[in-house]
Amino acid sequence: MIFHLISSIQAIEVKWYGASCLSISDENTRIIIDPFLTRPSLWKVLTNQALIPDTRLIKKYFGKDSRETIILITHTHYDHILDLPEVLRANPKAKVYGPAETIDFLKLFKIDTNIFKSLSKNHSLNIGQFSIESFDIKHSNLPFGFSFSRGKMSSTITTPLGAQDYQSMNSHSFFIKHKDARILLHPSAEPQKYDLKDIDLLIVGLTSLNINSLKKEVIDRVQAKRVFAIHHDNFFKSFDNPLAKMPFFPTLGVFPTKKLPISIKLDASL
Ligand SMILES: [Zn+2]
Repeated sequence: MIFHLISSIQAIEVKWYGASCLSISDENTRIIIDPFLTRPSLWKVLTNQALIPDTRLIKKYFGKDSRETIILITHTHYDHILDLPEVLRANPKAKVYGPAETIDFLKLFKIDTNIFKSLSKNHSLNIGQFSIESFDIKHSNLPFGFSFSRGKMSSTITTPLGAQDYQSMNSHSFFIKHKDARILLHPSAEPQKYDLKDIDLLIVGLTSLNINSLKKEVIDRVQAKRVFAIHHDNFFKSFDNPLAKMPFFPTLGVFPTKKLPISIKLDASL
């Protein structure tokens, strides 16, 4: 029985690609979360220069795949959806689930909106052996209380977009269940009360200077077997550079020294 549990957990592969870009997959299904491999420089972001997706990276990591693919979006800031149009061009059958305003971006990038379902109305979905529940959560403020691009996208905007054109109104977290593995992705430092038990892996975004309430209300409360921190890396550095911590952002004690992507083991002893 123990062998059975371990082998079924290891059938799922979880990878982190920096910021809150992740993939969770088994042999039949691939879930891509917040596709963002392009990672433009801070200068490009501050000066709102046109952001051009890095198709080499997108093809390499999120290219065509024989498995069924779905894309989950936590919110529509550039560091979460910049590469969404190109991932969809590589995977035209993929379905997208995200905040209602995601549809504005799909229209802007001339993508068939039939592939999209808003999580603002429907909070649960099943795909392959996965069942996924979404929650409405709050986006955290950036360090020093700076609030980034909150609101509705301008109707006069044209592509390509600059970082500040990616407006966001709603944010979501995800509870992803697969046979014996239970994964909770809480991508924000703003806490949320979850009545979930037996979580194998809590993936948590450290997107604020102060993570005390996040620790108390999410990390301590959920008591996951394994906690993995995301979105505390310096995502202004390119994907191929060594991974570096975002200045000022906290860690949960350790910061990974490997290159992206990083495999997140579900077995706490590994
Ligand atoms: Zn954001």
